[in-house]
Amino acid sequence: MSARPRGFSKFREVQAELDRSGAAIYRDEDGTESLIVRSPYAINYVHSYAEDSPFFLGLAEGRLRGSKCRKPKCGFVYGTPRSHCMVCGAPTEWIDLPTKGRVHSWTTCHFGSEAFLKETPYNLALVEFDGVGSLLLVRLRDCVESDLYVGMPIEAKFEPNPKYSITDVWFVPAR
Ligand SMILES: [Zn+2]
Repeated sequence: MSARPRGFSKFREVQAELDRSGAAIYRDEDGTESLIVRSPYAINYVHSYAEDSPFFLGLAEGRLRGSKCRKPKCGFVYGTPRSHCMVCGAPTEWIDLPTKGRVHSWTTCHFGSEAFLKETPYNLALVEFDGVGSLLLVRLRDCVESDLYVGMPIEAKFEPNPKYSITDVWFVPAR
């Protein structure tokens, strides 16, 4: 019978222990202990992006696309794909968003799904763009939490080998 799993306060250390033994205890800042276990899990998820497809095809071309309400009196601009306007209900059209924006808000994630484990902890930011009425939620890389502030200028980077996923785009501090 093995002893109680080893405890760690950094998720990277938990990850390393999971690689070694398959079980570890994560101890958070409040002293709460969570047992973390590793077990195999694999699926092939076949799905359609349907009317959001131009957004993901755009990422593969290094373009960030949003939506603009077609009704001239409204014309609301969204920082995400949206087939119909939330303000007036009219259909939208695709527009190219700026590739530079500002941090509206952010959070640092100390846990992540499998796709993000290698970069955990990682930052998620709500990005605001000039002339755009809603925000884009995206990863913020090449910076640590203590670098971040509201209004910080940031710019988009695109995956050179696209996977047709939201992970094909991320933001970094603007140079
Ligand atoms: Zn509208």
